[in-house]
Amino acid sequence: MESERYYQPQAETMPVEQIRQMQSEKLVRQVRHVWEHVPPYRTKMEAAGVTPEDIRGVEDLHKLPFLTKADLRDNYPDGFLAVPKADCVRIQSTSGTTGRRVVAFYTQEDVNLWEDCCARAIVAAGGTREDVCQVSYGYGLFTGGPGLNGGSHRVGCLTLPMSSGNTERQIQFMLDLGATILCCTPSYAAYLGEALKEKGYKPEDNKLKAGIFGAEPWTEEMRRDIEKSLGIKAYDIYGLTETSGPGVSFECREQHGMHINEDHFLAEIIDPDTGEPLPDGEKGELVFTSLDKQAFPLLRYRTRDICVLDRTPCPCGRTFVRMSKPMGRSDDMLIIRGVNVFPSQIETVLLQEGYAPNYQIEVDRANNTDTLDVYVELSEEQFTDTVKGVTAAEKKLAGAIKTMLGINPVVHLVAPKTIARSEGKAVRVVDKRKLID
Ligand code: ADP
Ligand code: ZN
Repeated sequence: MESERYYQPQAETMPVEQIRQMQSEKLVRQVRHVWEHVPPYRTKMEAAGVTPEDIRGVEDLHKLPFLTKADLRDNYPDGFLAVPKADCVRIQSTSGTTGRRVVAFYTQEDVNLWEDCCARAIVAAGGTREDVCQVSYGYGLFTGGPGLNGGSHRVGCLTLPMSSGNTERQIQFMLDLGATILCCTPSYAAYLGEALKEKGYKPEDNKLKAGIFGAEPWTEEMRRDIEKSLGIKAYDIYGLTETSGPGVSFECREQHGMHINEDHFLAEIIDPDTGEPLPDGEKGELVFTSLDKQAFPLLRYRTRDICVLDRTPCPCGRTFVRMSKPMGRSDDMLIIRGVNVFPSQIETVLLQEGYAPNYQIEVDRANNTDTLDVYVELSEEQFTDTVKGVTAAEKKLAGAIKTMLGINPVVHLVAPKTIARSEGKAVRVVDKRKLID
């Protein structure tokens, strides 16, 4: 096997005690910076009775107050800006998946650090300067395109700044220029795989070897599907605008959890209900403290993403802690007839039952009872079945979902191409109950 390569080996393989020491030093410095330059956070610290003197290292982290998206929205656009605007060179903003957008500021050093993180992800996926990297995440305010674009440049790949959309052109450039690495959302990767197949291409007709897919939750089943349809290894990448963008964590060749770039981001898992820190290995909400960011240095930021941290050594040699795939945001979790439901659970069942990951979940309320409708698209081959066959298939799928969730859904198998495709983040859930409240 080819020996492991790292983009910044000194950081990525740093002994664990050294990482902790480094995090402590950076935390002390960062808390001072925030105290001095971010009035809304200082107010929070004062209300909690904490001053910078109380924070001597990572062991004191729990004393600091949390930050939430609501804090950032309340202080929109620049209440959390910690340097003069003249020192900033960029803004990006969240996708607004769950509400009003949040704007994040970057100094040139913040951009450099972010791009380095993306470069680490590309190298971990096998990228070198010989590669042709097709970046099909959206460019603009969304962090996906600019982040991976910057990372690709740093690695020295030939970068194709495609942005999202225009599938015809994506395929043409992918094939004509021999793209070897594809970066986009997993739902768009699945769509590209489907489009290539429709045009009569086989997985071996493209030169792709790896994909770096993130920005939305996806399951292991979906990974296997994409790997098969494109003939690649599919790697997960995670991040959020508030902490910089994609590249906060990334998968290595083990494809078993994403290494968090702990030299820049300090991760904790907390109980989302009580806010108490949880020991490693327990499932809870991921909280980040940015240790190096200058313009937008968030302390104890609640991501609302639910996952588990794993500190067991990774065979790839990276010493950074690994986070499991987030199974969805705490606010993505649907409560249907009193049962907690994550869209990813439904996706798992669909793929296990042989359907493509083109689906939409609709929750509503009728006669004071929650209703759950799952619309699932059939492939062309599946569609040729008789009506009777479809009814039986709907029943079978409903049964499988019931086994997973404990509640009965109504399944609708619909014609190919009737569920809107997303070029960015897929819209999986339509919760009509929220419109009533
Ligand atoms: P928004 O919060 O408006 O969607 P962002 O574009 O910054 O704004 O998205 C960040 C969020 O996207 C994360 O908090 C997480 O919920 C989700 N996300 C990003 N990468 C992944 C991934 N690899 N797996 C699952 N979810 C992800
Ligand atoms: Zn690893």
